Amino acid sequence: MADIEKNLADVRKRIEIAAKKSGRCADDVTLVAVTKTHPAEMINEAIDCGVRDIGENKVQEILEKYDKVKKGVRWHLIGHLQTNKVKYIIDKVYMIHSVDSVKLMDEIERQAEKHGVSQIKILIEVNISGEETKFGIAPSEIDEMLDHAKALKCVKVCGLMTILPKIDSGISNRLHFHNIYNKFVDISQNKYDNIDMEFLSMGMSGDFEMAIEEGSNMVRVGTAIFGERDYS
Ligand SMILES: *Cc1c(COP(=O)(O)O)cnc(C)c1O
Repeated sequence: MADIEKNLADVRKRIEIAAKKSGRCADDVTLVAVTKTHPAEMINEAIDCGVRDIGENKVQEILEKYDKVKKGVRWHLIGHLQTNKVKYIIDKVYMIHSVDSVKLMDEIERQAEKHGVSQIKILIEVNISGEETKFGIAPSEIDEMLDHAKALKCVKVCGLMTILPKIDSGISNRLHFHNIYNKFVDISQNKYDNIDMEFLSMGMSGDFEMAIEEGSNMVRVGTAIFGERDYS
Protein backbone atom coordinates (compact mmCIF):
# COMPACT_ATOMS: atom_id res chain seq x y z
CA MET A 1 0.00 0.00 0.00
CA ALA A 2 1.25 3.43 -0.92
CA ASP A 3 1.68 5.82 1.98
CA ILE A 4 -0.18 8.63 0.28
CA GLU A 5 0.35 11.17 3.04
CA LYS A 6 4.10 10.62 3.09
CA ASN A 7 4.41 10.50 -0.69
CA LEU A 8 2.46 13.73 -1.04
CA ALA A 9 4.66 15.48 1.49
CA ASP A 10 7.69 14.27 -0.44
CA VAL A 11 6.32 15.40 -3.82
CA ARG A 12 5.39 18.80 -2.39
CA LYS A 13 8.86 19.23 -0.97
CA ARG A 14 10.40 18.36 -4.35
CA ILE A 15 8.05 20.83 -6.09
CA GLU A 16 9.11 23.52 -3.65
CA ILE A 17 12.82 22.92 -4.27
CA ALA A 18 12.37 22.88 -8.06
CA ALA A 19 10.23 26.03 -7.96
CA LYS A 20 12.89 27.83 -5.92
CA LYS A 21 15.50 26.87 -8.49
CA SER A 22 13.48 28.71 -11.11
CA GLY A 23 12.91 31.73 -8.90
CA ARG A 24 9.35 30.88 -7.90
CA CYS A 25 7.60 29.41 -4.91
CA ALA A 26 5.66 26.18 -4.45
CA ASP A 27 2.34 28.07 -4.60
CA ASP A 28 3.04 29.02 -8.21
CA VAL A 29 2.85 25.37 -9.22
CA THR A 30 -0.44 23.48 -9.28
CA LEU A 31 -0.16 19.82 -8.40
CA VAL A 32 -2.67 17.66 -10.26
CA ALA A 33 -2.80 14.26 -8.56
CA VAL A 34 -3.27 11.68 -11.30
CA THR A 35 -5.60 9.00 -9.99
CA LYS A 36 -6.23 6.78 -13.01
CA THR A 37 -6.72 3.09 -12.13
CA HIS A 38 -6.97 3.97 -8.43
CA PRO A 39 -10.20 3.61 -6.44
CA ALA A 40 -12.23 6.48 -4.99
CA GLU A 41 -11.05 5.60 -1.46
CA MET A 42 -7.48 6.40 -2.38
CA ILE A 43 -8.54 9.63 -4.03
CA ASN A 44 -10.46 10.61 -0.91
CA GLU A 45 -7.41 9.86 1.21
CA ALA A 46 -5.40 12.23 -0.98
CA ILE A 47 -8.13 14.85 -0.64
CA ASP A 48 -7.87 14.53 3.14
CA CYS A 49 -4.17 15.32 2.71
CA GLY A 50 -5.01 18.56 0.92
CA VAL A 51 -5.20 17.51 -2.74
CA ARG A 52 -7.66 19.70 -4.65
CA ASP A 53 -6.89 18.84 -8.28
CA ILE A 54 -7.57 15.35 -9.60
CA GLY A 55 -6.41 14.12 -13.00
CA GLU A 56 -7.96 11.25 -14.92
CA ASN A 57 -7.20 10.20 -18.47
CA LYS A 58 -10.44 8.40 -19.30
CA VAL A 59 -13.99 9.71 -19.45
CA GLN A 60 -15.31 6.37 -18.20
CA GLU A 61 -13.18 6.51 -15.05
CA ILE A 62 -14.37 10.00 -14.20
CA LEU A 63 -17.97 8.87 -14.52
CA GLU A 64 -17.39 5.80 -12.36
CA LYS A 65 -15.68 7.70 -9.56
CA TYR A 66 -17.41 11.06 -9.70
CA ASP A 67 -20.11 10.43 -7.11
CA LYS A 68 -17.81 8.48 -4.78
CA VAL A 69 -15.20 11.19 -4.56
CA LYS A 70 -15.57 14.03 -2.06
CA LYS A 71 -16.94 17.28 -3.40
CA GLY A 72 -15.03 20.51 -3.71
CA VAL A 73 -12.28 19.15 -5.94
CA ARG A 74 -11.44 20.07 -9.51
CA TRP A 75 -11.42 17.28 -12.05
CA HIS A 76 -8.93 17.50 -14.89
CA LEU A 77 -9.28 15.38 -18.00
CA ILE A 78 -5.71 14.76 -19.09
CA GLY A 79 -6.06 11.92 -21.60
CA HIS A 80 -7.17 11.84 -25.20
CA LEU A 81 -10.81 12.89 -25.59
CA GLN A 82 -13.04 11.62 -28.37
CA THR A 83 -15.58 14.13 -29.62
CA ASN A 84 -18.50 11.77 -28.98
CA LYS A 85 -17.62 11.62 -25.25
CA VAL A 86 -17.46 15.35 -24.53
CA LYS A 87 -21.12 15.39 -23.55
CA TYR A 88 -20.56 13.02 -20.61
CA ILE A 89 -18.00 15.14 -18.79
CA ILE A 90 -18.64 18.71 -19.90
CA ASP A 91 -20.44 19.61 -16.66
CA LYS A 92 -18.07 17.63 -14.44
CA VAL A 93 -14.56 18.74 -15.30
CA TYR A 94 -12.77 21.94 -14.41
CA MET A 95 -10.26 21.70 -17.21
CA ILE A 96 -9.55 19.63 -20.33
CA HIS A 97 -5.79 19.35 -20.91
CA SER A 98 -5.82 17.35 -24.10
CA VAL A 99 -7.44 19.44 -26.82
CA ASP A 100 -5.70 18.67 -30.08
CA SER A 101 -8.12 19.62 -32.86
CA VAL A 102 -10.43 22.40 -33.96
CA LYS A 103 -13.18 19.81 -34.27
CA LEU A 104 -12.82 18.86 -30.61
CA MET A 105 -12.83 22.53 -29.57
CA ASP A 106 -16.06 23.05 -31.47
CA GLU A 107 -17.70 20.06 -29.85
CA ILE A 108 -16.65 21.27 -26.39
CA GLU A 109 -18.19 24.66 -27.24
CA ARG A 110 -21.40 23.04 -28.48
CA GLN A 111 -21.81 20.80 -25.44
CA ALA A 112 -20.94 23.59 -23.00
CA GLU A 113 -23.68 25.72 -24.48
CA LYS A 114 -26.13 22.85 -24.41
CA HIS A 115 -25.40 22.01 -20.77
CA GLY A 116 -25.34 25.61 -19.55
CA VAL A 117 -21.62 25.56 -18.75
CA SER A 118 -20.70 29.21 -19.20
CA GLN A 119 -16.96 28.63 -19.21
CA ILE A 120 -14.78 25.59 -19.73
CA LYS A 121 -11.03 25.87 -19.46
CA ILE A 122 -8.99 24.01 -22.02
CA LEU A 123 -5.32 23.52 -22.73
CA ILE A 124 -3.94 22.89 -26.17
CA GLU A 125 -1.94 19.68 -26.26
CA VAL A 126 1.29 20.20 -28.14
CA ASN A 127 3.49 17.39 -29.34
CA ILE A 128 6.79 19.15 -28.84
CA SER A 129 9.07 16.15 -29.20
CA GLY A 130 7.75 15.21 -32.64
CA GLU A 131 7.16 11.66 -31.46
CA GLU A 132 4.84 9.97 -33.90
CA THR A 133 2.69 7.88 -31.62
CA LYS A 134 1.69 10.66 -29.27
CA PHE A 135 -1.42 12.78 -29.49
CA GLY A 136 -1.15 16.53 -29.70
CA ILE A 137 -0.64 19.06 -32.45
CA ALA A 138 2.64 20.20 -33.95
CA PRO A 139 3.96 23.53 -32.63
CA SER A 140 3.38 25.02 -36.09
CA GLU A 141 -0.37 24.38 -35.73
CA ILE A 142 -0.82 26.28 -32.46
CA ASP A 143 -1.62 29.59 -34.15
CA GLU A 144 -4.45 28.06 -36.14
CA MET A 145 -5.98 26.66 -32.96
CA LEU A 146 -5.67 30.00 -31.15
CA ASP A 147 -7.21 31.83 -34.09
CA HIS A 148 -10.14 29.49 -34.05
CA ALA A 149 -10.63 29.84 -30.29
CA LYS A 150 -11.08 33.61 -30.56
CA ALA A 151 -14.66 33.25 -31.69
CA LEU A 152 -15.73 30.72 -29.06
CA LYS A 153 -17.83 31.86 -26.12
CA CYS A 154 -17.66 29.04 -23.59
CA VAL A 155 -14.31 27.55 -24.45
CA LYS A 156 -11.50 29.41 -22.77
CA VAL A 157 -7.97 28.54 -23.83
CA CYS A 158 -5.84 28.96 -20.75
CA GLY A 159 -2.58 27.34 -21.67
CA LEU A 160 -0.61 24.53 -23.18
CA MET A 161 -0.01 20.94 -22.20
CA THR A 162 2.62 18.49 -23.31
CA ILE A 163 3.68 14.91 -22.65
CA LEU A 164 7.26 13.86 -23.27
CA PRO A 165 8.56 10.41 -24.13
CA LYS A 166 9.68 8.52 -21.02
CA ILE A 167 12.72 6.74 -22.34
CA ASP A 168 15.24 9.42 -22.95
CA SER A 169 18.60 10.67 -21.90
CA GLY A 170 16.81 13.56 -20.22
CA ILE A 171 18.96 16.14 -21.94
CA SER A 172 16.76 16.42 -25.00
CA ASN A 173 13.65 16.33 -22.78
CA ARG A 174 14.94 19.39 -20.97
CA LEU A 175 15.31 21.07 -24.33
CA HIS A 176 11.74 20.11 -25.30
CA PHE A 177 10.44 21.57 -22.02
CA HIS A 178 12.47 24.68 -22.66
CA ASN A 179 11.12 25.06 -26.21
CA ILE A 180 7.50 24.75 -25.23
CA TYR A 181 8.01 27.21 -22.39
CA ASN A 182 9.33 29.71 -24.94
CA LYS A 183 6.28 29.09 -27.09
CA PHE A 184 4.06 29.63 -24.04
CA VAL A 185 5.77 32.96 -23.30
CA ASP A 186 5.52 34.06 -26.95
CA ILE A 187 1.79 33.45 -27.00
CA SER A 188 1.32 35.22 -23.65
CA GLN A 189 3.05 38.29 -25.04
CA ASN A 190 0.99 38.32 -28.22
CA LYS A 191 -2.21 38.83 -26.23
CA TYR A 192 -4.73 37.02 -28.39
CA ASP A 193 -8.42 37.65 -27.67
CA ASN A 194 -10.04 35.04 -25.47
CA ILE A 195 -6.67 33.44 -24.73
CA ASP A 196 -5.17 33.64 -21.30
CA MET A 197 -1.88 31.81 -21.00
CA GLU A 198 -2.27 30.92 -17.37
CA PHE A 199 -1.12 27.30 -17.27
CA LEU A 200 1.72 25.33 -18.73
CA SER A 201 0.90 21.72 -17.90
CA MET A 202 4.03 19.60 -18.14
CA GLY A 203 5.89 17.18 -15.93
CA MET A 204 4.97 13.76 -14.56
CA SER A 205 6.46 11.54 -11.81
CA GLY A 206 9.69 10.95 -13.71
CA ASP A 207 10.37 14.49 -14.80
CA PHE A 208 8.30 17.04 -12.87
CA GLU A 209 11.27 18.71 -11.23
CA MET A 210 12.95 19.27 -14.57
CA ALA A 211 9.67 20.53 -16.02
CA ILE A 212 9.25 23.04 -13.18
CA GLU A 213 12.84 24.21 -13.54
CA GLU A 214 12.04 24.86 -17.20
CA GLY A 215 8.89 26.86 -16.47
CA SER A 216 6.00 24.46 -15.87
CA ASN A 217 3.35 25.70 -13.43
CA MET A 218 1.12 22.63 -13.49
CA VAL A 219 2.44 19.12 -12.95
CA ARG A 220 0.51 15.87 -13.35
CA VAL A 221 1.83 13.35 -10.85
CA GLY A 222 0.47 9.84 -10.35
CA THR A 223 3.00 7.14 -9.50
CA ALA A 224 5.05 9.25 -7.08
CA ILE A 225 1.91 9.76 -4.97
CA PHE A 226 -0.11 6.57 -5.36
CA GLY A 227 2.54 3.99 -6.28
CA GLU A 228 2.71 1.85 -9.40
CA ARG A 229 -0.52 1.33 -11.31
CA ASP A 230 -1.97 -2.15 -11.70
CA TYR A 231 -3.64 -2.49 -15.09
CA SER A 232 -4.58 -6.16 -14.69
C1 LIG B 1 -0.79 8.84 -16.25
C2 LIG B 1 -0.52 10.23 -16.67
C3 LIG B 1 0.28 11.08 -15.90
C4 LIG B 1 0.95 10.66 -14.60
O1 LIG B 1 1.99 9.77 -14.82
P1 LIG B 1 2.96 9.30 -13.64
O2 LIG B 1 4.20 8.89 -14.35
O3 LIG B 1 2.28 8.17 -12.96
O4 LIG B 1 3.17 10.45 -12.75
C5 LIG B 1 0.45 12.38 -16.34
N1 LIG B 1 -0.12 12.82 -17.49
C6 LIG B 1 -0.89 12.03 -18.25
C7 LIG B 1 -1.48 12.58 -19.49
C8 LIG B 1 -1.11 10.70 -17.87
O5 LIG B 1 -1.89 9.93 -18.64
